[in-house]
Parts: sequence; C-alpha cells; structure tokens
Amino acid sequence: MAVTRTFSIIKPDATRRNLTGAVTKMLEEAGLRVVASKRIKMTREQAEGFYEVHKERPFYGELCDFMTSGPVVVQVLEGEDAVKRNRDIMGATNPDDADEGTIRKTYAESIEANSVHGSDSDENAAKEIAFFFDEDEIVG
Ligand code: ADP
Ligand code: MG
Repeated sequence: MAVTRTFSIIKPDATRRNLTGAVTKMLEEAGLRVVASKRIKMTREQAEGFYEVHKERPFYGELCDFMTSGPVVVQVLEGEDAVKRNRDIMGATNPDDADEGTIRKTYAESIEANSVHGSDSDENAAKEIAFFFDEDEIVG
C-alpha cells in the first residue's frame, strides 16, 4: 500500500476542550504522521469556501458558524492509505453511529460538533491541503 497524504482539521469543539493532543495521539497511534500543522481561526470566507460542496445542505450556515466559533488545527497527515486510515480512526459523522475506539465516538459532542474533519478521497485531500498549506510548509 502506498504512502499518501490526507487533510485533517481538529474542530473548535475539540480545541475548546483542550483535546488537540489527545486527538493527535489517536491519529498517530493509528499509523498517521503529522507532516504539517497549524492552529488558526478560520475566517468566514475560508469556512464557506472549504465547505462549498455542502452549500445546498440545510446545515451549511450553522456549520460555517461552528467552524469559525473558535480555533482549529489544520494538519496534513501522511501514512499508508492515509485517507481511509484517517476515516477509519475518525468514525462515522454522527457519533451515535461511530464505532467504539474512534475519535468521534470518544470525543464528539454532536453530529455537527464532531471533533474532526478528514478528506474523503485522494483528489479532495490534494485540494484541501492546497487550500490551507503551501508545499514548503509540509515536511515529511
Ligand atoms: P464527514 O465530516 O463525516 O465527511 P460530511 O462531509 O457529510 O461528513 O459533513 C461535513 C460536516 O458537516 C460534518 O463533519 C459535520 O460537522 C457537519 N454535518 C454533517 N451532517 C450534519 C447534520 N445533519 N447536521 C448538522 N451538521 C452536520
Ligand atoms: Mg465530508
């Protein structure tokens, strides 16, 4: 299996509860390596652009409110089959449906405040990484 990259966000519900380290530990223990990381306050424009694919969904406005409600940590993760590996450790979108031992089952507050984002394909990972990082900020 090839070493690939994915994009992760530790969301405001997790940074607010001081869970940056705890979430990152779960990512690392799942075999992912943090090759870029920065803590930012997303602007409204960034949130709306990042979640543009969801703009017709009823929760879009609230999701953008939530994602700009506090700091987030954006990360590039590297590992074998990184997109799937990250989705597996994240767990289902709704924490009520997430498997035991996943980040969302362990830490998420709700279907919206679900602690982490992870890319859903290699193509989207590349786009999402480029949205927040210059290539020289990524050190493998
Ligand atoms: P995932 O993050 O698991 O890929 P989606 O891409 O479907 O899930 O949704 C993006 C984000 O939008 C979710 O992580 C969550 O924060 C929020 N979200 C998804 N579905 C809902 C919903 N029904 N109500 C409120 N927020 C939602
Ligand atoms: Mg998604």
